[in-house]
This record gives sequence, structure tokens and C-alpha cells, in this order.
Amino acid sequence: MTTTTFSSLPLATEILTAIQSLNYQKMTPIQAHSLPALLKGRDMLAQAKTGSGKTAAFAINILHQLDVSSSQTQALVLCPTRELADQVSKEIRLLARAIANTRILTLCGGTPIGPQLTSLKHRPHIAVGTPGRILKHIQKDSLKLDGLKVLVLDEADRMLDMGFHDEIIRIISKTPRKRQTLLFSATYPDEIKDISDAIQSDPVDIRIEGLHDNNKIKQVFYEIQKGERTRALVALLQHYHPESSIVFCNRKQQCKELADELWQLGFHTLALHGDLEQKERDQVLVQFANKSSSVLIATDVAARGLHIKDIQAVINFELSPDPEVHIHRIGRTGRAGNEGLALSLFMASERFRVEAIEEYQDSPARIEKASALKTRENFRLSPPMVTLCINGGRKNKLRAGDILGALTANTNLPGKQIGKIDLFDNLTYIAVERPVAKQALRILSEGKIKGRKYRVRKMR
Ligand code: AMP
Repeated sequence: MTTTTFSSLPLATEILTAIQSLNYQKMTPIQAHSLPALLKGRDMLAQAKTGSGKTAAFAINILHQLDVSSSQTQALVLCPTRELADQVSKEIRLLARAIANTRILTLCGGTPIGPQLTSLKHRPHIAVGTPGRILKHIQKDSLKLDGLKVLVLDEADRMLDMGFHDEIIRIISKTPRKRQTLLFSATYPDEIKDISDAIQSDPVDIRIEGLHDNNKIKQVFYEIQKGERTRALVALLQHYHPESSIVFCNRKQQCKELADELWQLGFHTLALHGDLEQKERDQVLVQFANKSSSVLIATDVAARGLHIKDIQAVINFELSPDPEVHIHRIGRTGRAGNEGLALSLFMASERFRVEAIEEYQDSPARIEKASALKTRENFRLSPPMVTLCINGGRKNKLRAGDILGALTANTNLPGKQIGKIDLFDNLTYIAVERPVAKQALRILSEGKIKGRKYRVRKMR
């Protein structure tokens, strides 16, 4: 039997302390299977999806292999999207917090290169980023990988789907031949096997089928009649009232229309699709993650790399024609021990898609009648928070503490009613509990933050 306590691993006290402070009580299956081999320096090819604890698995290994007394860049994590890179950096930082002077830098495209060049003057111990931008830094010689010990390709299948194959190979050609290479992928197409053969040496092959922890996800399929889809979705929201849910559509047009329709019906919904500019996408993700919106309507492409904790329900407004995509969709709920809910709507003419999923997951689908759902007339989901937006951010040297101070010092607004504060270069989003939103808006509009006045608005 595999032991699942972290203390059974030969880890430094600093790392064990951080794991303990994060309250990770035992290893997840991917951690228990991978860490003993990783810590010995083996390469690894792992089939693991988001929610499995894979980030902590490779982060712990990176920190174990790291020598902070050396100023060389010793670990590089390549990710398909900026959101995933941010998430990965965050997790590494949390695990590294007891190790003094660890430098971790995120380097992604879509953001100006200048500040990155400045940050790179102090060589990071660990770099996390997207392939295009990492390659650019290597070419500019601002990132040097001659001392690299660990290379991680996270969500490798996504990176290949996005056309990053050549960048990845060029990046790898700049790393030492003797290195530890970890490749994580949710799916296992031939391209993954090929790239593994090309860049890894005798990797441990770990497949913790995502499907097997789906017992933490309650999955129900609802058969509906033609023309009933939106009504059935409202019925699902009314019956289960999830605090937050992602509703998947197969096409972006449907995604936009559905978001408008639900909004008209009184649900706070946001749409995430490929037509959004980066700034709009950030806004949507901030509002959903800080609980100012209860329903996120998304396409598969737009939801790539999305890491949001505590999604109570994933709803398939329409089933994906690809069972693998279906499994990827529903894997966003039921993360790290919480029970998840995956609900899917289908018409009789789409039953073959349900059958394909049954075959793929090797278990029968639970099918129920939409008419059995207990709908509550006039019941609307009301998100617990409201987002305020300030026209100033990191570039104005604002920090979360300044904003919290402005809201709570000399006022009767308790700090616990303020939620997440997300700082961007020129904007800051602040989540506040709905009942105190007006008061918070007034305090910020009438007062000053660090001696300066800012424009503040409440977002819809
Ligand atoms: P990931 O699969 O890397 O996206 O991780 C999913 C979530 O699980 C993250 O929020 C982690 O903080 C959390 N997590 C990772 N390892 C553990 C663990 N051993 N126990 C509890 N939570 C964990």
C-alpha cells in the first residue's frame, strides 16, 4: 500500500512546514504515486487533470531540488495560459514561503516585456510562463537556462493544441541535457507520447485516471424536449441552487445569447468566450472568482486553463460531442475533496453522446427527468458579493492593504465584509459583501487612498 503522509517523504522541514500550514493532511493519489520517484530525480510522464493536486506534486519536487544559495535559474514551468501560470506561481510561492529568499517569476505573453526585463536582472530560481514569452526571453538572453535542473510541461496536451510544439522544442534545446523533465497531460494522444520520447529519459509513467475520482462528483443527466433547454437550465439552478456554477455551451454565439437570456430572467450571469479582449476576460474571471456572479457561461476554448476553486456545479447546457472534453469539463467541480455536481441536458436525438460518455467512463449514466426538478417560482440566485472597480492599480503603487485600510480605518465597516482584492496595472477590483456595497462605494468615492482620489464604480 502507498503511504499517504507527507512526513514519510525525505523533505526539508521548511517544505513540510509549508505543507502543514496549507492544511494538506495527506497526499492526493497523484502526489503519493509520483513524489517518491520525483524526489529521486526521475523523469515523469503523468496523466493528471486539474484538481488532482498535480501542481503541488511538481512544486514540492522543484523546491526539493532547489539550491537557493545559487543564483541560477534552476526550474522552469511551461504552461498553456497566463491564468494557469499565475495559479502555478501562487502555489509554488505558498509552498516556498518557509524557504528564505526563493525568487519565483511569472513570465507570460500578453503583458509588456519591459517590467519582465527589469525583474529578470535578478535571476529567478524558478520561472513560470507561457512558451512564446519564455522563448523570447531566452532569445534576448534575459533568461538563462544553463543551470536548469527541473523542467515541467504542465497541461502539455493543451500547449500542443495551441500550437506551441516548436517553441517548446526550441526552449528545451537551450537547457542542459542532464535535467529532470516532468510532463503533465490530461489526455494521452500520440503527440504526447512522441514529445515524451523526444525530451525525456526513461520516465516513470503515472496514470491516475481522472475518472476514478469522479465518485466525488455526483453526475446526473436530464432528458429534455426540444425548445426546453433554457427552461430546464433555470430549473436546475432553482433546484440545486449552487452558489457558483459554470455552464458549458458548444458555441460562442450560444454562450452570449444564453448569458443575455439568463440575465433578463434575473440571474447574475457572465459570459466567457473567445471574442473577449484580455481586459474583459480578466474582469469576468475576477467577478466570478470573487463570488460577485453566480453563473459563468463558457465555451471550452475560453475556459481552458481556468482555475477557480469551489465551483459547486458544472452544467452542460449542451453535451460535448467529445467524451474526453466532457470529462475535462466536469473535472472542474469536486476538487480536492469537496463533493461536486455535474449536470447535463440532452435531447433524445443526442442520446448517442450520453452513450459515448458511458462507454468512455465505463459506468452507466444516471438519467433523470427534468420534470422531477423542484423549481421555486421567483427564486433567483443572488451572489453574496459585489465588485467595485477603482481606476488605479499596481502602477499607482496601490496594495491590497492600502485599500483595506481606506475602507475600514475610521469607518464602521468591518474588514471581514471585504472579500478578494485583485490588483492589475491600472485597475483594482474589490469584492464586498452585497449589503455593504453602497457604503463601501461611498467611502472609497468620497475618501482618498494613500492621499489620492480615485474614481470608483460598482460593476454590474
Ligand atoms: P491542482 O490539481 O494542482 O489544480 O490542485 C487542486 C487543488 O488542490 C489546489 O487548490 C491545491 O491547493 C489543493 N491541494 C493540492 N494538494 C493537496 C492535498 N494534498 N490536500 C489537500 N488539498 C490539496
